[in-house]
Amino acid sequence: MTGLFRTNGSDENRGKQSCRTLTELYTKHFKTLTSFCTQLTMTTQRETHRVPITSLEMNVAYGCNLQCEYCTHLGRFMKGIVSLDDLLLWYRSWNRKIRPQTIRIMGGEPLLHPHLESVLYETRSHWQDSRIEVMSNGLLLPKIKTSVFTAVKETESHMTLSRHYDDPYYNPILEAGIDVLRQHDIEPRIAKSHQSWMKCYRIDERGHARPYQSDPTKAWKICYVKHICTTLIDNCLYRCPQLGCSAYAVKNGFVHFDDWKVVLGYQPLMPDCTQEELEAFMKEGVCEQCSICPEEFQHANQYEKINPFGLPVIRNLFCGAPNHE
Ligand code: SF4
Ligand code: SF4
Repeated sequence: MTGLFRTNGSDENRGKQSCRTLTELYTKHFKTLTSFCTQLTMTTQRETHRVPITSLEMNVAYGCNLQCEYCTHLGRFMKGIVSLDDLLLWYRSWNRKIRPQTIRIMGGEPLLHPHLESVLYETRSHWQDSRIEVMSNGLLLPKIKTSVFTAVKETESHMTLSRHYDDPYYNPILEAGIDVLRQHDIEPRIAKSHQSWMKCYRIDERGHARPYQSDPTKAWKICYVKHICTTLIDNCLYRCPQLGCSAYAVKNGFVHFDDWKVVLGYQPLMPDCTQEELEAFMKEGVCEQCSICPEEFQHANQYEKINPFGLPVIRNLFCGAPNHE
């Protein structure tokens, strides 16, 4: 600002020059100012029409490097990633409609997405005020390219690592992942999933996932994700990952159709929904498909939780431990 008023000569001249400078400045920046105000008004209007939601979950990679039993996202049964083209289409469909407090970039294992850095930049550019959280099991962090860590920091995202087990094979690998994050000045939050895991489907003797056949009202009563884990899959909003992921798994043949076809009766919210439909969706209560969930809270016990590495060969592949089996 000092340059604006730097003049020579009398007070009168100085005054005239200041006025001229201000007029020029005003004229020069008028269009920019007007455009800024219009943008601000549009943004404010848009914000007031965006429906606030607690969190939006994005399964950017459906599969996982681990095989945890009772994974609510059916990660051990799934394959595939969300392409960047699809991701952009979905984001453009929804970013004017919803205002998530938190967006969780997850899976499966999100670090399996080959363009995770682009996922993060796109997420931030579509939802500038949301908290972005990458939910990972953390075991692949030592193999991840630097650009991902840069993107985490540049998009002001957060890393949450879920601890899935506690044993001499597993712990050093998780610690190595935490070290890698710290080397990049990222302090992760550690979620103790291994202490609070709840069964959300059954596993039969052949290792297939089978839904419960519960009283939906009882299942809804103990549901711990109601209204807080809205899930975006195939450009549709699902009320929870259980319904979204199981519908995706049935459609893609990852689980038995006859066992899970009940979930196809659930109507997710389509991108052409009205604001009223969206608001009603966020308040929905129990639905028939809640029958897939248990009616009683049951922790997975140590045996049922099994080592998330699953088969011994997979365990060795990731931890490089000698085969003690
Ligand atoms: S780490 Fe386990 S719980 Fe997490 S997505 Fe993979 S299989 Fe599921
Ligand atoms: S299906 Fe119903 S009970 Fe099960 S997680 Fe979703 S909302 Fe909760």
